[in-house]
Amino acid sequence: MSPTFLYTLIAILLTLLLWLGWHSYVLKRRVVELTKAVLNTSNQPLPQDMPHLEELSNAIAALQSQFRDRLADANAEGAQLAAVIEQIPDGIIIADEEDKIQFANPAAHTLLENASLLESRVVQALRYHQLIEIWQKSKKTKTVQSDVLEIPFQRGFLQLVVAPDQYAPGGSLLLIQDLTRLRHLETVRRDFISNLSHELRTPLASLRALTETLQDGALDDPPVAQRFLSRIETEVDALTQMAQELLDLSRIESGQIELNLQNTTPQKILQRATERMRMQAERADIHLVLDCPNELPNIQADVARIEQVLVNLIHNGIKFTSMGGTVTLSAESGSRSIRFAVSDSGIGIPANDLPRIFERFYKADPSRRSRGTGLGLSISKHLIEAHGGKLWAESVEGQGSTFYFELPIN
Ligand code: ADP
Repeated sequence: MSPTFLYTLIAILLTLLLWLGWHSYVLKRRVVELTKAVLNTSNQPLPQDMPHLEELSNAIAALQSQFRDRLADANAEGAQLAAVIEQIPDGIIIADEEDKIQFANPAAHTLLENASLLESRVVQALRYHQLIEIWQKSKKTKTVQSDVLEIPFQRGFLQLVVAPDQYAPGGSLLLIQDLTRLRHLETVRRDFISNLSHELRTPLASLRALTETLQDGALDDPPVAQRFLSRIETEVDALTQMAQELLDLSRIESGQIELNLQNTTPQKILQRATERMRMQAERADIHLVLDCPNELPNIQADVARIEQVLVNLIHNGIKFTSMGGTVTLSAESGSRSIRFAVSDSGIGIPANDLPRIFERFYKADPSRRSRGTGLGLSISKHLIEAHGGKLWAESVEGQGSTFYFELPIN
C-alpha cells in the first residue's frame, strides 16, 4: 500500500468522523429543542440535564394522552351543547354569508312552521316582512336588532333577535322566541286590575250615595234611615265576599291551599250541599231536586271544598232560573271517576260566553243578570282541578245549563 493512498484513506476517515460528529451534535440539539417544545406544550417540567431521545418519546406519549383527554372533553361539551340546543324552546338559526341556513334547531322549525329550513334562504324562512326587515337591518348596520311580531290571525307573538357576523363574516345568528304565553299573562293581569277596579267602583259608588243621602236628612226619618242602613249592609257584605273570594283565588292559584282529603261518598256531599241551599231555593220558588243512586263508589275529597263548589253551582242555578223552575243535582259512576252534575231549567248561557265563564270576573251580559263577583266559577274550577278532576259546562241559551265535574274514584 503506497503512503499516498494511506494518507488519503486516513483523510477520508477523519472527514467521515467529523461529519458524523457534526450530525450527531445537530441531531442532539434538535432532540433537545423538540423535547423542550413538547414538554412546554404539555405543561410538563423541563429536565435539569440534557434530555435524551427516550425523554422525547415519553413527552410525545404524554402529549398524545393529554390531547386525547382534551378531545374527549371537547366532544362531551359539544354533545351537552347540542342536547341543550335541541331541547330549548327558543329557535336558533345560523346562516352563512350567502344567507343560506346552515343550522336550525327543532324549535326553529316549529316556530317558523317549516320542516326543511336547512339550505333554504333566510328570507324564505322568516316569511313575515316585519321579521325580514329586522334581519336586513341587522345585516346592513352590523348591529344586534330585535323586534316582536304579532302573527296575523293567530293571537300569537314571535320575538326575533338577529346578531350579525356570526358563524362567518357576513353570516348571522337568529334567535326566535315565542312570547304568546307571556303576552297573554300580561293581558290577563291588566284585565284583572281593570276588572277589579270596575267591580269595586259600583258598590263604593252606592255606599257614597247612601251615606250622602243619610247625611242630607234621611237620618232624621228613622224608617228611611233603617232601609238605607240595611242597603249599606248589603253593599258591605258584597265587598267582604269579593275580598274573601279574591283571597281564596289567590291562595288556590299560588298553590297555598292544602286539601284535607277524606274518604267519603258522593251522596253525602250532595246531601249536605242540598240541605244548605234548600232555604234559598224555597225563597226563590225553585225546586231543588237530588237525584243520586245509593250505590256509588267512594271518593277521596276535601268535603268542605267540594261542598263549596256545589253550593256555588246551586247558587248560580237558582240565580239564573226564574220562579217555578228546577235545579237538579245528580251523580253517576264512570270507569275511573264519579261525574257530578248540577242542572237548571234557567236562562242558559249564550254560546259565545260559554268558553269564557270560568275566567276571573267574567259575567255573561252583566247588565241582564243579578249581581255577583264573577269569581265563583273560577274558584270552583281551581278547586276541582286541585282534586285531579275537571269542571265544565253545557248550555243552550233559553233552555238551561248543566255544570259537570268529575272526581277520581279512590
Ligand atoms: P257570578 O255568578 O258571581 O257572576 P260566576 O263565576 O259564578 O260568577 O259565574 C260567571 C258567569 O257565568 C255568571 O255571571 C253568568 O253569566 C254565567 N253563569 C254561571 N252559572 C250560570 C247558570 N247556571 N245559568 C246561566 N248563566 C250562568
